[in-house]
Amino acid sequence: MSTSDTPAIQLVGLHKAFGSGDHEVVAVESVDLSIEAGEFFSLLGPSGSGKTTVLRMIAGFETPTSGAVLLAGRDVTHEAPYDRDVNTVFQDYALFPHMTVQQNVEYGLKVKRVARAERQQRAVEALENVRLADFGRRKPSQLSGGQRQRVALARALVNRPKVLLLDEPLGALDLKLREEMQVELKAIQRDVGITFVFVTHDQGEALSMSNRVAVFNHGRIEQVGTPREIYDQPQTDFVAGFVGTSNVLSAELSGELLGKAEPHSIRPERIRIVEQPAAGEISITGVVSDVQYLGAGSRVRVDLPDGSHLLANVPSDGLVGVAIGGSVRLAWSRTAASTVADSNHLTNTP
Ligand code: ADP
Ligand code: MG
Repeated sequence: MSTSDTPAIQLVGLHKAFGSGDHEVVAVESVDLSIEAGEFFSLLGPSGSGKTTVLRMIAGFETPTSGAVLLAGRDVTHEAPYDRDVNTVFQDYALFPHMTVQQNVEYGLKVKRVARAERQQRAVEALENVRLADFGRRKPSQLSGGQRQRVALARALVNRPKVLLLDEPLGALDLKLREEMQVELKAIQRDVGITFVFVTHDQGEALSMSNRVAVFNHGRIEQVGTPREIYDQPQTDFVAGFVGTSNVLSAELSGELLGKAEPHSIRPERIRIVEQPAAGEISITGVVSDVQYLGAGSRVRVDLPDGSHLLANVPSDGLVGVAIGGSVRLAWSRTAASTVADSNHLTNTP
């Protein structure tokens, strides 16, 4: 029996290797993850980090080398895709060009021999879900890219799955449309209330849409958390560098400045250029080596005596006295820096 407390998806010690011997590629390694029912959950990571392979194992298109996939508490590791209560939306969704939008959405139900009246009703509802109620009679060629993407979504929603898997579904859209669809997709997920597992390599997209995010690197999860946790308290130098821009202070420099000889990360927007640090602030001087105009402010690169550098985001009115080659004092509050583990310790294990 599943209860509302049972996670929608559990991945237990999931491992996937392709090929064998010298040609073995480990795509996914030791992934443990629990996704709650109704969550908008993102798998975020660079290309090749194993996101699609994880999604395909959840869907059943790929069998794990070891480990288990549980859906609503039930072990489905060795079940076929059609026996699982999940649907997938791919980036390169293909709509049937000769069918209307309504027929495209109904098609899967027709294959499953769902009666005509129910089929029509459910397709109408799915098109309402994706805000295309008035578009049922159009052909795909009469739709914009974003609308076609929403038809692909309706085609999955019409099956009323408990879990929807989305593999970079907005990747083919241009930036403006993509941003609109991010808002739309999040709203649709809230409306229909089903669990979304969303794969993306775009950190901004993952942070803006998700309840929680898992950050992938080399087939492993480096961190799972809310967007705020991932952004404010990256646990590894990889997460700090991949999600937004961050500075990583070496263990040595951290020891000198913070009294704790472990690497720390600090976001550029937490660092100020000051005449005098406030009481209790951490402070260091360096030489300005670059000033990059950002629009809302500027990003100043400051070279430090130990050969490293820090990036500081400075508001437009904060650049007085800042010149390339000139010396500046940087300051930040004690809580602005957080410790990070060295990702190499995590990823280079045999
Ligand atoms: P992502 O979706 O994060 O870009 P993938 O899951 O597609 O990453 O791939 C992870 C790794 O597994 C990559 O090194 C990729 O080349 C490899 N891989 C994926 N699928 C296969 C396959 N069918 N055969 C061999 N290697 C594969
Ligand atoms: Mg992929």
